[in-house]
Amino acid sequence: MSKSLPLVKIPAMSLRERSIEVDQTHIGTSEFQSFLDDLIETMIVEDGIGIASPQVGKNIRVFIVNEKFGPKAYINPEVTPIGEPIIESEEGCLSVPGVWGIVMRTKKAKVKALDRHGRRVEFEVKGFMAIVFQHEFDHLNGVLFIDKAIRTEQANQHTKQLV
Ligand SMILES: [Zn+2]
Repeated sequence: MSKSLPLVKIPAMSLRERSIEVDQTHIGTSEFQSFLDDLIETMIVEDGIGIASPQVGKNIRVFIVNEKFGPKAYINPEVTPIGEPIIESEEGCLSVPGVWGIVMRTKKAKVKALDRHGRRVEFEVKGFMAIVFQHEFDHLNGVLFIDKAIRTEQANQHTKQLV
């Protein structure tokens, strides 16, 4: 049974550290697989569209994205922006409550990672998904959207999904 993990919020140090690579031999273990399930459960319970491992206080290079066909795990990912950062993305973060900000992002990004079975995946994302992947990847390097935002605002309510 998967369980929701406690969310880590600013100013927690784990949000500011560079997370370490997952040892590939560790991916198939039941301990790691149940951690992925717990991370997915946490994202669902918190109503996020993505979540990165440092957001539950575990500094390993893993994030989850809630995609069209369900949540997917990305392990040791590389997310490379394609083109110029011309999109004004309005972002919020589960770990930064009550703040929204405009971040300049690229329209597309290239993703290379391992999936939860340790298989290599490589694809391009665009639009909203490109933003989610860039946001989650930043978490693995200790970067928050408020560091990059060209402006921020306080808000108690918002209709957009958090990442
Ligand atoms: Zn976030």
